[in-house]
Amino acid sequence: MAAAAAVTTEEDVIIVGAGQSGLAVAACLSLRGVRALVLERDDCVGSLWRKRAYDRLHLHLAKKYSALPHAPHPDSAPTYLHRDEYAAYLDGYAARFGVRTRLRREVRCARYDPGAARWEVEAAAAAAGGAGEVVVERYAARFLVVASGENAEKFVPEVPGLEAFPGKVMHAAEYRSAEGMQGKAVLVVGSGNSGMEIAYDLAAAGAITSIVVRSELHLVTKEIWNVAMALSAYLPVWVIDKLVLLMCAVVFGDTSRHGLRRPAVGPFTMKLTTPAYPVVDVGTYAKIRTGEIRVLPAAVKSVRGNVVEFGDGKRHPFDAIVFATGYRSTVTHWLKSEDGLIGDDGMAARSYPEHWKGDNGLYCAGMVRRGIYGSCEDAELIAGDISKLLLLRPQQEQEQEQGNGF
Ligand SMILES: Cc1cc2nc3c(=O)[nH]c(=O)nc-3n(C[C@H](O)[C@H](O)[C@H](O)COP(=O)(O)OP(=O)(O)OC[C@H]3O[C@@H](n4cnc5c(N)ncnc54)[C@H](O)[C@@H]3O)c2cc1C
Repeated sequence: MAAAAAVTTEEDVIIVGAGQSGLAVAACLSLRGVRALVLERDDCVGSLWRKRAYDRLHLHLAKKYSALPHAPHPDSAPTYLHRDEYAAYLDGYAARFGVRTRLRREVRCARYDPGAARWEVEAAAAAAGGAGEVVVERYAARFLVVASGENAEKFVPEVPGLEAFPGKVMHAAEYRSAEGMQGKAVLVVGSGNSGMEIAYDLAAAGAITSIVVRSELHLVTKEIWNVAMALSAYLPVWVIDKLVLLMCAVVFGDTSRHGLRRPAVGPFTMKLTTPAYPVVDVGTYAKIRTGEIRVLPAAVKSVRGNVVEFGDGKRHPFDAIVFATGYRSTVTHWLKSEDGLIGDDGMAARSYPEHWKGDNGLYCAGMVRRGIYGSCEDAELIAGDISKLLLLRPQQEQEQEQGNGF
């Protein structure tokens, strides 16, 4: 049941989502003397890293490229932060910049009121008495920042018969470790970073592991990718692509011999121009080469009992299935705006670097799949723009008042 709160909380800026993007915007605003309020549906900041990431996860980029604005990682931090270290860093970041966050507030509706020239936001909050009761809180702000993430909702494809599969079925967001999977036949569906790392985790723990690899992918190592990141400040993208491919050829050889075909477009160009990201190898490839991990090339078509049928007609029995099939943004569920900032897929409609600012004080951060680096850039741009507009306000209001006098 939902009860409506009577009062509207007035703010200058409302930010939806307390992941790294929302926190970075709030911090950059705070440094410019602007107080923002962050509304977060979960009960903690950085919930992706605490609640939707597997135990062995480390950041793929070195700490130099994984820090939020104005808060570099200390020398004592490891080069590649573990999930828990990054979550702790986000806690510290929020505290250091005095980020005001209201947790357990799920934004259900945000629309612009042109008469009042402000955004009206409704958030569902758990009622004090518990028992599943929800209070609808109302907020109003001149500026609204969408920072609810590209991973707001799990995506699992529809597979006929899956509901009757007798074994364990989970999404990568629910996978923590291979505990209980030893000796079991496990199918991992999806060959992005999560799928490839989960397959490694399972195989290393003694699960009989198969992975569906349908798409072409660029396999790189952390070290190669960090060299690419470092060179990107000095060299054109096509040169970086060539260097990365050369280094990959030395390290991996021809990956297509083992079912991992590389796209025609180079890895760095791909990162910059498409939503796809290279796969950072954590040891999966060695296990594919030795046959410890079996690569299945065709899509899952249907499930009958414990047998999975694939698009190429092959059938294999499994004890468990992990869907590493990605996530979706849910912005279109709650943002009522047709200014073209957010597309039908809930992501920024315009491509980088034109993606971050809409009409009427609407912005988005972290919505063009550019990872931590993208969150930082968006935060500085958004905070700079909002603080500039807030500074202009008294002057404009003054001019308007003078105009009204005549
Ligand atoms: C397993 C995994 C590993 C990754 N590793 C890396 C990496 O190593 N390096 C890298 O650069 N990127 C990595 N990424 C990409 C990653 O998505 C982004 O870097 C980062 O999480 C994006 O931060 P964000 O704040 O934009 O989104 P999120 O971290 O998803 O934060 C969005 C927040 O908004 C909240 N929210 C959503 N909807 C609402 C609502 N309606 N009301 C209120 N709150 C809401 C969510 O609960 C969440 O806390 C990884 C992603 C995954 C899934």
